Amino acid sequence: MDFDLSPEQEAFRKVVRDFAESEIAPHAEAWDRDHTFPVDVVVDMGKLGLFGLPFPEAYGGSGADFTTFCVAVEELGRVDSSMAITLEAAVGLGANPIHAYGTEEQRQRWLPAMCRGEALGAFGLTEPDAGSDAGATRTRARLDGGEWVIDGAKAFITNSGTPITSVITVTAATGPGEISAILVPGGTPGLVVEPPYRKMGWHASDTHGLRFEACRVPEGNLLGMRGQGFRQFLAILDDGRVAIAALAVGLARACLEHSLAYANQRQAFGGPIGRYQAVAFKCADLAVMVENARNLTYKAAWLKDHDRPFKREAAMAKLYATEAAVTATREATQIFGGYGFMDETPVARFYRDAKVLEIGEGTSEIQRLVISRDLGLPVE
Ligand SMILES: Cc1cc2nc3c(=O)[nH]c(=O)nc-3n(C[C@H](O)[C@H](O)[C@H](O)COP(=O)(O)OP(=O)(O)OC[C@H]3O[C@@H](n4cnc5c(N)ncnc54)[C@H](O)[C@@H]3O)c2cc1C
Repeated sequence: MDFDLSPEQEAFRKVVRDFAESEIAPHAEAWDRDHTFPVDVVVDMGKLGLFGLPFPEAYGGSGADFTTFCVAVEELGRVDSSMAITLEAAVGLGANPIHAYGTEEQRQRWLPAMCRGEALGAFGLTEPDAGSDAGATRTRARLDGGEWVIDGAKAFITNSGTPITSVITVTAATGPGEISAILVPGGTPGLVVEPPYRKMGWHASDTHGLRFEACRVPEGNLLGMRGQGFRQFLAILDDGRVAIAALAVGLARACLEHSLAYANQRQAFGGPIGRYQAVAFKCADLAVMVENARNLTYKAAWLKDHDRPFKREAAMAKLYATEAAVTATREATQIFGGYGFMDETPVARFYRDAKVLEIGEGTSEIQRLVISRDLGLPVE
């Protein structure tokens, strides 16, 4: 058994950490306050090779394994959840479906710019009336004169309205009980990108509702086989859940690091607050949570990299790591006392950013459902 990352993975972690600390951390508070999507920094992340990590060199990627991608997401998550989710969604939800299910022509058309970080893809699954129950999709697509005509709406779509959004993979009913995935290029007439949401956190991440009003794209924009959209997105979400868990590990780690520094420095009753067990034990519990979350996450990534089944482990990692991150941000805020409630303190931003991790790419309840079913229970 080997719990160590390879020397290459550790070296890469250092590169991403240095970038995150020098190019992201100093600005994260301002982006959060001003709700700025820092497109130049996203392009710089592309130059570092982050967006092409798990894709073959033939499409401009670097052919790294999924574990290495998780390391990158974790390191970004340690300083700024918004930039971490921008990367996670662009790779996991934007490029990954095209790489997994696209024709050679579709891959060559869309992936190279995405791998360079010059273009972002998005994934439109959730609808105003269909989230966890994604099979209840109401968006419709019908063939007319060699084109798909799409009508409907999507909700909460990450990276769907940035200046560099190139294409959105949209799930739509193409017949009774038949869901397919269709590529809709940004700027297609009939694709309406709604104004950005006002969110509790992830203020520097780009999230929009979308409307499709007789939106026409070529028949050849079908992604994968007709009627396979449901099966495809379930597989895509398994990958995404491991990466979201990695983001949560980074966030929980940041809480531990900030809490330790503050517990040693903040004075109360004639000494550092870390000498009180109530504070020290919180830090001890955070350390245990980080360790558990990391082990679950990297085991799931390792299984995927070794072509072993990992659905249950992905759900476990996502469930545990995201709930640990929410707990960690709450406890870190408590350790910081009144300063923890002030927006200029990083843990205040972490607290607001954490909650959505228990919701996106399958809620905690859906993860428990996946695990229960995998255990053989007849749960609904
Ligand atoms: C900031 C943000 C970014 C997002 N980005 C994307 C994106 O890029 N692409 C995309 O497609 N989606 C995206 N989403 C959507 C996200 O995946 C959904 O919000 C999530 O899957 C939950 O769906 P819902 O909001 O419709 O909640 P619902 O499905 O309505 O759930 C409401 C509550 O009911 C519970 N529930 C529902 N069904 C069951 C059940 N069978 N058993 C037990 N409990 C149940 C849920 O767990 C939850 O607590 C994003 C969401 C947010 C907030």
